[in-house]
Amino acid sequence: MAEKLLKFVSLEQEMPLKRAAKQRLADFREVYAEFDTASATAQASRCSQCGVPFCHIHCPLGNNIPDWLRLTAEGRLEEAFLMASSTNNMPEICGRICPQDRLCEGNCVIEKDFDAVTIGSVEKYIVDTAWSEGWVRPIRPLVELDQSVGIIGAGPAGLSAAEELRKAGYQVHIYDRHDRAGGLLVYGIPGFKLEKDVVGRRTGRLEQSGIIFHLDFEIGREAGLADLREKHDAILIATGVYRGRGLKVPGVGLGNIREALDYLIVSNKKGFGDKVPEYDNGNLDAKGKNVVVIGGGDTAMDCVRTAVRQGAKSVKCLYRRDRANMPGSAREVQNAEEEGVEFVWLSGPEAFVGKTAVEAVRAYKMRLGAPDATGRQAPEPVPGSSYMMPCDLAILALGFEPEDLPALFGAPELRVSRWGTVTVDHASMMSNLDGVFAAGDIVRGASLVVWAIRDGRDAASSIKTYLKTQKAKVA
Ligand SMILES: Cc1cc2nc3c(=O)[nH]c(=O)nc-3n(C[C@H](O)[C@H](O)[C@H](O)COP(=O)(O)OP(=O)(O)OC[C@H]3O[C@@H](n4cnc5c(N)ncnc54)[C@H](O)[C@@H]3O)c2cc1C
Repeated sequence: MAEKLLKFVSLEQEMPLKRAAKQRLADFREVYAEFDTASATAQASRCSQCGVPFCHIHCPLGNNIPDWLRLTAEGRLEEAFLMASSTNNMPEICGRICPQDRLCEGNCVIEKDFDAVTIGSVEKYIVDTAWSEGWVRPIRPLVELDQSVGIIGAGPAGLSAAEELRKAGYQVHIYDRHDRAGGLLVYGIPGFKLEKDVVGRRTGRLEQSGIIFHLDFEIGREAGLADLREKHDAILIATGVYRGRGLKVPGVGLGNIREALDYLIVSNKKGFGDKVPEYDNGNLDAKGKNVVVIGGGDTAMDCVRTAVRQGAKSVKCLYRRDRANMPGSAREVQNAEEEGVEFVWLSGPEAFVGKTAVEAVRAYKMRLGAPDATGRQAPEPVPGSSYMMPCDLAILALGFEPEDLPALFGAPELRVSRWGTVTVDHASMMSNLDGVFAAGDIVRGASLVVWAIRDGRDAASSIKTYLKTQKAKVA
């Protein structure tokens, strides 16, 4: 084994090639190229095959990372693909957008002295190769069962659950209010992090596997929860969280102050070549504008990087804490800075100024005060520090909350937490309504794709147990 592995002592960490910033700004294509076979094999061979693999432990999906790194280093790529797919429904997507620096790679044991194995890039290489080699095939269940499951939401939680249920032979229907399946994978996350055909081939495969998609179908408009419960033997709610957190400052009602997701959805639709009046009439197009994005998370990063690609005159990211304390990924901040985004640390909006539409943001400087209950230093305004920055388009990226699902679904009996997330029994993921399960962001609050996949898989497993019990009762 040592011959093909443990190369971290002699071989340095290498990332796939990154396109130059100037070239990146010209399109919405991904930033990183694919490893070639030699680089993927070499980088996989840096794995130390340690006794307690912290990469595996810190992966929400419990991916068998050392195993598929070993198979890659040995050139056994199809087996590596099968191993990676046994715990993950979309490994090539996780390879692209998981925050590996906080999960697997951040916990790699060689990280301290030798730089982590580039796990995400190898994962992407393995599964992209599987797609091009034709190893990823539609699901053909061994049996066809007569029970059906209705899934509300075609994001990663809903899609992963659908795949697991279909493998077992259940009839699966997915309902989504958008015209394309994928949830935030298609309409939230921009193409420069995740190209859309990568998502499309996954959803296409599910369609070819016999899963029925009902798109442009909103629960609460086309049907209520009760209608779906009549139709199906079990229901999974996987609707995500979409209501942007507001900001209470003077002038917030002015024109051209928009929610991050409105902005990103429109931009992603344009990427598909759709006609989008709000963009086509210039309202949600950053071209030639002074753009100010407020927030410091990954959504804010996606907005600033979208705005520079649309040809904004200037793009500033206003964040109330400092670089070390921002929630967004450090890698994404670096990418954004290379692309011309200006980060204004320790600053918060005091007011928006303008006649009918925003013309400037009055900001004040902040400093980090005493730690709050969570141990995080709370930002506080510095008196008399106000200053103005020009702004024709302000984007609020302050986090997301659930919609009022009981009202929307016409189901006041559905129990939700005080934050509006669906309350489930954490062992079974069933809500207080018999046969109605929930998974993903709508249970956890805004989280990560890898957790949505995990939840979808766990919910599918509970739904299978539930359906078997129901069947046994009838027999
Ligand atoms: C801008 C942005 C960037 C992100 N970047 C990353 C990243 O880089 N890495 C990462 O791991 N995570 C990232 N995330 C988080 C990640 O996208 C989510 O955690 C994940 O998509 C949640 O999956 P989900 O299936 O629970 O919900 P979603 O992906 O939100 O899917 C929910 C689906 O339900 C549908 N729906 C909602 N209500 C109804 C209804 N009433 N009727 C029918 N359909 C309905 C929606 O249309 C949607 O398709 C990002 C999030 C955002 C907003």
